[in-house]
Amino acid sequence: MQFIDLKKQYQVLKADMDAAIAQAVEGAHYIGGPEVKELETKLAEYCGTKFCLTCANGTDALTLAMRCLGVTRGDAVFVPTFTFFSTAEVVALEGATCVFIDVDERTFNMDPQKLEQAIKAVKKEGRLNLKCVIAVDLFGQVADFPKIREIADKYGMKVVEDGAQGFGGSINGKKACSFGDISTTSFFPAKPLGCYGDGGAVFTDNKEYFKVMSSLAVHGKGDYKYDNVRIGYNSRLDTVQAAVLSVKLEAFAKYELADRNKVAARYTSALSDLFKTPVVPEGYESSWAQYTLITKSEKERNALQVALKERNIPTMVYYPIPMHLQTAFKGCKNDYCDLSVAENLCKTVLSIPMHPYLDQESQDMVVAALRECATA
Ligand SMILES: *Cc1c(COP(=O)(O)O)cnc(C)c1O
Repeated sequence: MQFIDLKKQYQVLKADMDAAIAQAVEGAHYIGGPEVKELETKLAEYCGTKFCLTCANGTDALTLAMRCLGVTRGDAVFVPTFTFFSTAEVVALEGATCVFIDVDERTFNMDPQKLEQAIKAVKKEGRLNLKCVIAVDLFGQVADFPKIREIADKYGMKVVEDGAQGFGGSINGKKACSFGDISTTSFFPAKPLGCYGDGGAVFTDNKEYFKVMSSLAVHGKGDYKYDNVRIGYNSRLDTVQAAVLSVKLEAFAKYELADRNKVAARYTSALSDLFKTPVVPEGYESSWAQYTLITKSEKERNALQVALKERNIPTMVYYPIPMHLQTAFKGCKNDYCDLSVAENLCKTVLSIPMHPYLDQESQDMVVAALRECATA
């Protein structure tokens, strides 16, 4: 059994995929071919933003956002401590300070109440400039942006949505990657919408931001390629990946997102008496980048992982270490916020196979193994 079955996905999409790749290869515009602009238009339309710019990966997308907002030394950037390393890494790369925020156990996402407490503590201390909040759509569920936006506005801060795992999710029909002043996503193969290599994108409604990020992504270009007005990067999505993503986006919108939700609903109804299963608040739709259970203890979690492995059922621990306990962030001040929920989650979470091509029979096997091996 695969944790995420990309081979099966390719088999299903093969005819369209092979044709799209062949066309991109034959077109021979390997960088910046027409497929790239076409994809950006479709992505912006899908997410409901004015602009989309593709780039080399999801980490670069966050870096473009940080640079565009002018995040720098002396700035406080509020990030959840329960996330993938990139979210915090890009802040530190600009010389700014990460202020780590705890998450809500039910949704795995940034806890708005704790966010505001930490903002007040940083403000009172008076050492750092309140710059922005990066909220993450963890495991496919959009963060609580209505509340986060209200808090950010109150303190004059910008909002960045790290939608690397959130693509396809929504709140009352408003799609992920449309909630930030700048929103980002990743097309790493295992994400809800993945390509056949690395890829990423930024989304915004702000024309000036779009212009600045478009420049940053191509060596800080000005009016033309050899006019360089700022120090930038080489961060582009290549044409073949854009062709791949066009085919995948169609399948994603047509049935994959719905099928992910069917798989998740079956897991929840079969497992919620034995484990804490993910909570999707009223009005929210998740794209289920992961289906993550909370077990009773670290001991149970680790035993389950071993027992499932013996039955050839892959599981993953996302994430074993919160940002504030990472070696790379050793010495960072982290007493602005109580971080105990994330610390406990790191010990008890277990993600199980989740993808839109998971058939009922395989899913029944996962459920049976979990039920058999769970401790009373
Ligand atoms: C995957 C991921 C990223 C980084 O994306 P890459 O394309 O791998 O650079 C950033 N943030 C989160 C939350 C992620 O899951």
